[in-house]
Amino acid sequence: MNDKLAGLSQAQLDTHWMPYTGNRQFKRDPRIITAAKGCYYTSADGRQIFDGLSGLWNCGAGHNRREIAEAIKQQLITLDYAPAFQFAHPKSFELAERITHFMPAGLNRIFFTNSGSESTETSLKIARAYWRKRGLPGKTKLIGRINGYHGVNFGGISVGGIGANRSLFGPALDADHLSHTLLPENRFCQGQPQQGAHLANELLELIALHDPNNIAAVIVEPMAGSAGVLPPPEGYLQRLREICDQHQILLIFDEVITAFGRMGTASGAELFGVVPDILNTAKQLTNGNIPMGAVAVRQGIYDTFMEQGGPDYQLELAHGYTYSAHPVACAAALATISILEQENLFQRASELAYVLEETIHQLRGLALISDIRNCGLAAGLTIESAPGEPLLRPFRIAMKMWNKGFYIRYGGDTVQLGMPFISTSEEIDGLVNALAESILEVANGQ
Ligand code: PLP
Repeated sequence: MNDKLAGLSQAQLDTHWMPYTGNRQFKRDPRIITAAKGCYYTSADGRQIFDGLSGLWNCGAGHNRREIAEAIKQQLITLDYAPAFQFAHPKSFELAERITHFMPAGLNRIFFTNSGSESTETSLKIARAYWRKRGLPGKTKLIGRINGYHGVNFGGISVGGIGANRSLFGPALDADHLSHTLLPENRFCQGQPQQGAHLANELLELIALHDPNNIAAVIVEPMAGSAGVLPPPEGYLQRLREICDQHQILLIFDEVITAFGRMGTASGAELFGVVPDILNTAKQLTNGNIPMGAVAVRQGIYDTFMEQGGPDYQLELAHGYTYSAHPVACAAALATISILEQENLFQRASELAYVLEETIHQLRGLALISDIRNCGLAAGLTIESAPGEPLLRPFRIAMKMWNKGFYIRYGGDTVQLGMPFISTSEEIDGLVNALAESILEVANGQ
């Protein structure tokens, strides 16, 4: 038996159509995880693997937190499920109120979803419906950004700007896109780039092109994660905010990666000092233990729905999921939030962010690296493409890292790092050293 297979047969492996995975390669060379604790996974072949991306940016407080497991267990044996439509359970209200303490002032109404993708769809639908309620039904167009990632559902891929996520799937929703903010003059900058605020003025061009009476919302990730950690240029988000205000356009921040600590703060909005109208979260909300997302909206938006809702037994918003505000997810989120608070993990993430910044930029000058970016406890490296094999090198680097005992993510021409908030400086050093070694090996054709 091949112990890399964790006792699975090849037929079992073949049956699961894995998401966002090169299935044919994986099934030839499986990378299976059987357990996790703190910052480490155990692989099927018995190795300890440092989690250099906190799961998929969602396990910042570390794996297998006993307090979360306990809360989940207690909830399951007390109330396993309750409908969230027309009936409710107490924890959903408790959690909604708790979440508002992490949101910018004024974003104090919370709608629950089960994922980042559902948070995107929810926010886009709220934006369109809001303008209808305000008597402006023409305001439907959505503006996203090249390189933006907002999940995989049709709304998300419409406003998203990563071609590979969209090109297979035919016509999308009515959306347009701002440029990305990756300027050559900002290469290797530490933290927020100085150049590029002017790119927000492209929104004026889109407004002139489409007419503000047709535009519902602009959606951006304050720090674009999946495209390879792209922090916003100084002043960029502020300028978007001003233009949206001037033209009655809602500003949505997709903070599925950036909310709840990854930036060293409660949100990107807090770090960058810009308040959106709607703020989407998921991932770190439950520390990856149970799927859950939450969309925070400005009270005025909620009030509009209530005021225009007709008789009070009628739905103000015909939208929601069977598992919105699932009691077990609420329990997991409440336990996660307590850990984040009690262990001061935003502060810890912001201290480690400096360590990561110092360490990762020491790789500048190494073969194949054409850019390094960092923001909060996250970093992205752009890897020069091999002729004729545009995306091979990041994959090969990530595989070398796995073999050396480090899990990192590869995506497009980048590799991405986002270690747990409970990591140590030594672990960050170890990861970055292994990354340097892996890059050199790939550069040397090994
Ligand atoms: N939005 C952003 C900014 C994300 O990074 C992601 C996932 O990485 C999503 C949305 C989609 O989240 P999910 O995979 O939970 O649907």
